[in-house]
Order: sequence, then C-alpha cells, then structure tokens
Amino acid sequence: MLDILRVGLAELGLDEAKAEPLAEFARLVLEKNRVMNLTAITDEADFARLHLLDSAALASLPELAEPEGARAVDVGTGAGFPGVPLRILCPGIQMTLLDSTGKRVDFLRDACAALGLSDVACVHARAEEFAAEGRESFDLATSRAVAALPVLCELCLPLVRVGGRFLAMKSTQSDSELSDAARAVETLGGRVARTVDYAIPTGDVTHRVIVIEKVKPTPAKYPRAFGQIKKKPL
Ligand code: SAM
Repeated sequence: MLDILRVGLAELGLDEAKAEPLAEFARLVLEKNRVMNLTAITDEADFARLHLLDSAALASLPELAEPEGARAVDVGTGAGFPGVPLRILCPGIQMTLLDSTGKRVDFLRDACAALGLSDVACVHARAEEFAAEGRESFDLATSRAVAALPVLCELCLPLVRVGGRFLAMKSTQSDSELSDAARAVETLGGRVARTVDYAIPTGDVTHRVIVIEKVKPTPAKYPRAFGQIKKKPL
C-alpha cells in the first residue's frame, strides 16, 4: 500500500511523506471494518486507489491550493472519505466530518484521535438538520457517494458561504445527473463553475468532480425536511 500511495501522491504533486499517515488511516478503517460495516473495499491496493488516492486527487485541485484556515465540511463522510485524507494532505484546513450514522462518527472520533487530528470536528447529524447551526459557514463542502446531485445540492449548498464552493465527487457517467440538477443548483444559490475528469493515479479508473460555486445566499426555506427533498427534488 505504501508504494502505491507514494507513487500516487508524487503523480498528484502532493507530499509523498503523507503516504504514512494515509496508510495508518487505512489500517484503522480495515481493522474496524472487521466488526462493523465501513467499506466493501478491503483489498489494500484497491483501498489505496479507490479511497485514498481518489480523495487525494481533490487535494491537488486549485480549489484546495490555499487551504490555510479554510473551513470545510465533508457531508455523508461515512468512513471518512474524502474528508480524512483531505485533512491529512491539507493540514491547514478546519475539517468537519458529518454523517447521520452514529457508529461511523464514533469510529471517526477514535480514528482522528489515534492519528493526532485533534482539531477535526466529528459531527453526528443529518446534513439537512445540521444546516440550522452550520448554515453558510463553510468555505468548502465535499461529498462522495451520498445521493443524486439534485438531492445532494440541497444537503450541501446551504452549508456553503457565498463565495465558497461545493465539490461533488461523481462518476464520469454523471452528465444527465448534472443536467437534472440545474434547477436545484440555481435555486439554492449555486453556479456550476466546472467539471473535472481525473484519472486516479496508478490505476485505470477515471472519476469526476463537479465544482459548484455559491454565488448568492440559499433561500431560508431550504433545506427542507429529508422526506420532502427526496419526494420532490428541486
Ligand atoms: N462519503 C463516503 C465514501 O465515499 O466512502 C461514504 C459514502 S456512504 C455510501 C454514504 C454515507 O452518507 C453514509 O455513511 C450515510 O450515513 C451518510 N448519509 C446519508 N444521508 C445523509 C444525510 N442526509 N446527512 C448526513 N449523512 C448522510
């Protein structure tokens, strides 16, 4: 795993020395995965590529170029992707890991303590409920594998300040999802700035990040309760 991580980080122009804390995080996830469901990916090489280097690819984007003091929230972080690798690779970032499953958040608290990431906030909440306290207070929101883009925008964009960005990690087959989300993006105060297709280093998988800028405040009536968001996506 360490070799794949070192080569991958070098390809991304990131600090190869971060391979060690990333591998240590992988060890913690895979150990806990024996007793609770954190990930279906248990092969070490696949884990390195599909979880760690996929997350690391975000850290190499210009949007993360000046992370000093930036407040970020990873919505539906699960076992900590992409939030924990991002925090390891961009130590200046103030990271909040948000998930609606309490056991996963408990794991993340223990893992962050073990990794010495004492400034990471691990929050057990639904994103649409967390908006009551975290509204428009983040420079950056990230999310991977949580919901279709129209739903995801309502979970994430209310948390982002005007001038901040939401980075949605998607597959390269997300063209129709992106057009389906056009109304939601606009209604919630966003604007699609760009989409970036990137090859995960050392493998043959290509993923996509959709960069949505927050250009105006989200109207107060959003986010709605989850039942409404799901039943009637914007
Ligand atoms: N982002 C991680 C990844 O890519 O490996 C985890 C993905 S997992 C498939 C989806 C996670 O989103 C779950 O841990 C679930 O508890 C969380 N989730 C789903 N809906 C949510 C919501 N409304 N607010 C917060 N977390 C949510």
